[in-house]
Amino acid sequence: MISFFTVAHALHAPEYEFYRGQRVPCFEKPERATYVLEQLRARGHSLREPDVDSMPVLRQIHTARYLNFLQTAWAQWIALDPANASQQPFPSVWPVRSLRSDVQPDNFIAQLGLYSMDNGTPMAAGTWQAAKAAADAAASAARVIEQGERAAFCATRPPGHHAGQDFMGGYCFLNNAAVAAQALLNQGKKRVAILDVDFHHGNGTQSIFYERADVLFVSLHGDPRTEFPFYLGHADEMGAGAGQGFNLNLPLPAGCSADQWFEALEIACTRVAQHDPQAVVISLGLDTYAGDPISKFALQTPDFTRLGRRIAKLGLPTVFILEGGYAARELGLNAVNVLEGFEFQAKVGA
Ligand SMILES: [Zn+2]
Repeated sequence: MISFFTVAHALHAPEYEFYRGQRVPCFEKPERATYVLEQLRARGHSLREPDVDSMPVLRQIHTARYLNFLQTAWAQWIALDPANASQQPFPSVWPVRSLRSDVQPDNFIAQLGLYSMDNGTPMAAGTWQAAKAAADAAASAARVIEQGERAAFCATRPPGHHAGQDFMGGYCFLNNAAVAAQALLNQGKKRVAILDVDFHHGNGTQSIFYERADVLFVSLHGDPRTEFPFYLGHADEMGAGAGQGFNLNLPLPAGCSADQWFEALEIACTRVAQHDPQAVVISLGLDTYAGDPISKFALQTPDFTRLGRRIAKLGLPTVFILEGGYAARELGLNAVNVLEGFEFQAKVGA
């Protein structure tokens, strides 16, 4: 399996985020990708630089004004005050119900609120470059699938599944899984599925494809009544319009056992198979790990091998996109376990 990696990820290195009113070091940090890279190298996986420009696909996924905002955000922040170079911008006002989001304010902080779902997505000087490089990796992974590879992995950050058409959130700026899925459709594939196994619901991905029948979105995740992103991810969200029936959420109680999680995975995989897709994109969050500092599921390291084997049994061309996972040292081990479980099962046959 080809793994895509680029050092550009390290350009996105904000120092801190807020937790219960306190400044705390960012959980989504460059070391995450480094630990995955170390495991990939140690276990003999081949690495490749992204080599496809994702911009045409990004324009299909995100709005023009949001892409423009992301590209200019840091320059706007510095223009407010050169001293901002050593500070991080955070939104402080949002266009909630009854306020207008169709008019983009000139004020930078107001724009930041317009394009953010939370204050948990800190930006840094190189955020656009890093996010764009991760999206390029997703487009590159779709390209090698078109060229006949069975699977590819994007060892990239920042993650993407919380980012919607015109907003960032949950450490995510550009929706890499959506880019991969759309790029696969652009090749002429009629149906694609996205299976999101991150601890958190992939609200951005769901919303992007909610009214479409060509991309099935299936997610198992912590119940949004108690877990981020709180405002989406319930079982009664089944798609709308042409997309009615093409969205499946399997919320699970925080603290549920690995057995319960794998039962939900079986339901998810059955639904993916029913869609009869020509490729599947896996939003590979590894924050389901028992040792994750911000999540509440109970998977152990060998469970990730089992996960990879189950995904391979779908028998589909597969793009894996790294999403969350914050037990940084174990992140690499667990990620590569998924890939090797997949490769083992693909070799012995479904
Ligand atoms: Zn997550």
